[in-house]
Amino acid sequence: MHPGATPRRPDGGRHPLPPPSRRTVLRGTAAVTLTAAATQAAASAAFAAPAAGAAAVDHPGAHWLPASPANYRAARRPHSHAVDRVVVHVTQEDFEDTAAAFRDSGRRVSAHYLVRSADGRIGQCVREKDIALHSGDPGHDERSIGIEHEGRGHDPRWFTEEMYAASAALTAGVCARYGIPPDRAHILGHAEVPGTLHTDPGANWDWDRYLTLVRAGLAVRRGP
Ligand SMILES: [Zn+2]
Repeated sequence: MHPGATPRRPDGGRHPLPPPSRRTVLRGTAAVTLTAAATQAAASAAFAAPAAGAAAVDHPGAHWLPASPANYRAARRPHSHAVDRVVVHVTQEDFEDTAAAFRDSGRRVSAHYLVRSADGRIGQCVREKDIALHSGDPGHDERSIGIEHEGRGHDPRWFTEEMYAASAALTAGVCARYGIPPDRAHILGHAEVPGTLHTDPGANWDWDRYLTLVRAGLAVRRGP
C-alpha cells in the first residue's frame, strides 16, 4: 500500500524527548520524572502490548500492531493455503500513517509486518495464518507474507542498515517456517506482482544486500 502522502522527515521518525518545561522543572524532580515517563509511554504507544487473549506474534521480537479485521481475510495458512513467497513493499509514507491506514476499516489494505526505518523495529499487523491485502492480486495475497518498509523509494536514506537487518531476519524466519527458498523467485518486490501498477520497493532497494542477509540469517538458524 502506498497512497500518496506529503513527504516528511527523511530521518525515519526519530522522536527525541522534548526538554521539560520550566514550569515542570520548578515543580520538582518527581514531576519531571513523571513527565519523562509519560512522554516515553506516548512514544511507545504505537506498539500496543497484546491485550489479554490477543494473538501472539509470529516473529520473535515483533510488536503486535493490529490491523482492522476488515483489512485482511481470516484463514488457516499454511493448511488452508500454501505460503511460498514474500512480497517486499515500501510504504511511501511514515510508519505511523501506515499503521493508521491498517487500523482504518475503510482502507481494505494491510500487510503482515511493518518495519520502521530509524531502528528496524517490527510491527506485526496481521497473523501469518491470515491473508493480508497487500499485493493487489488475490492469488499472491493468499500465498505470500507481505512486509512493508517505512520509506520512500526515491530516497535511499530511508533504507537503513537497521531496517535491512531486521527485515532480513524476519524474512529468514518466514523462509524457515514455510520452507521458502531464499531467492528472487520467491522473495519479490511488489512491482513484480503480475498486473500491479505499483513500483515499490524501487531501484534504490538493494536486493543483493537483502538476499545476502536473508541467506546468512537462514544459515545461522540451520547451524554449522
Ligand atoms: Zn507495495
